[in-house]
Amino acid sequence: MMNNNFEMEETGIRCDFCPWEDKSVKQADYVNWINKPCPKCGANLMTQTDYENHLNLMMAFEIMRNLTPAQMDELIKKHNPEDLIQLMGKEQYDMLMSADADSKVSLKIDTHEKIAFIDIEIEKDGQPTEN
Ligand SMILES: [Zn+2]
Repeated sequence: MMNNNFEMEETGIRCDFCPWEDKSVKQADYVNWINKPCPKCGANLMTQTDYENHLNLMMAFEIMRNLTPAQMDELIKKHNPEDLIQLMGKEQYDMLMSADADSKVSLKIDTHEKIAFIDIEIEKDGQPTEN
């Protein structure tokens, strides 16, 4: 299963209503984007809720990153598979559970309005694994 070598990738900021995005925006600066309009279509780029979802996710991430491998195993044993399957779908869940310590696991998570799981990619030895 997973090890605890987590990294949070900087993905910039994007509009949910048009193709506008700015990949240079850092997560540390998200606070300055709350309720800012999209330069292209004027939609709200980040609501207060979006920002709070982001903070919650960052906090969960920090907690997981600081777990020892033994604590991580314990957490994995205690999780309710049904909850995760409902969140990410059976196929993606099976992929996640099949990842070993040498794999690089990439999760895409959307924090717009609610925290939603988007996609999972697992690489081993630099190659995407067959699903
Ligand atoms: Zn827009």
